[in-house]
Amino acid sequence: MTVHLDQRQRAMLAEMGVRVWAPQEEPQVSEVPSAATVTSAPTAASQVHPSTQTAAAKQTVTSPATPQVPARVAPTVNAPVAHTPILVQRPEGIDQMDWPTLQHTVSQCQACSLCGTRHNTVFGVGAKAEPAQAPQVDWLVVGEAPGENEDLQGEPFVGQAGQLLDNILSAMGLSRQGEGQGAGVFITNVLKCRPPGNRNPKPDEVAQCLPYLERQVALLQPKIILAMGRFAVQALLRDSVPDVETIPLGKLRGQVHSYQGVPVVVTYHPAYVLRNLPEKAKVWADVCLAMAEMQTQSPR
Ligand code: URA
Repeated sequence: MTVHLDQRQRAMLAEMGVRVWAPQEEPQVSEVPSAATVTSAPTAASQVHPSTQTAAAKQTVTSPATPQVPARVAPTVNAPVAHTPILVQRPEGIDQMDWPTLQHTVSQCQACSLCGTRHNTVFGVGAKAEPAQAPQVDWLVVGEAPGENEDLQGEPFVGQAGQLLDNILSAMGLSRQGEGQGAGVFITNVLKCRPPGNRNPKPDEVAQCLPYLERQVALLQPKIILAMGRFAVQALLRDSVPDVETIPLGKLRGQVHSYQGVPVVVTYHPAYVLRNLPEKAKVWADVCLAMAEMQTQSPR
């Protein structure tokens, strides 16, 4: 029997751990098993969220080689419930993608249930790039996940926390538009989609999204990364700091870590600072450490 589902129904099923299966020519097997299987006529890739199109339109895609996101998952019956089901497998080869292809792939991503509730994916913002190239930046700022405003506008850090970040950048002689000293800044998040109600990212969501951040770092080749808040720190230092999730963020400050060979400085999230204003001085101390580390980097 074929069941026709609208987008809201798909999102609800996703939240409940029920994977929607769309028949395609060559099924690909999901890494994560799921509980029930519901068959539906429209493909997930074409139907997920009308706003996905808004995101795609907003983000300039110039590469002719934008891949089609595979809109298929193999049906499994009576398998255990997945925490965050993979709706559609991420395409292969993220680690080989160029910047526009990566941006397009993120805009189409349906690798976790956040795709059912987002209005826009939030790829990042910063210095302007040459066509088909990643922006040339010295600085990469990594936050947690889009909030409500970011989800609606498709741009990171546009709310109150963003204003504080803009002030910090301005004090550093940088701006999100890429003007100012040095080779500029790019701002992104660990998650490219908003968790509903601004809840914390789930481990499976982070795991699904992390390859995008990894590729962004590889393409941007920043001279330094400023990791803002617990989720950015844990995502970036998980391979270099044992049991990083058990270490309070304050204990990771004051030293220069490393991610993919790029120096990483840890600091508090701007939203946390807004709730704890005395911590502002600590963020500035962290920024000074990062700027000092930047001085040790050779020019491009
Ligand atoms: N908080 C984040 O971590 N990122 C944003 O983009 C906005 C708020």
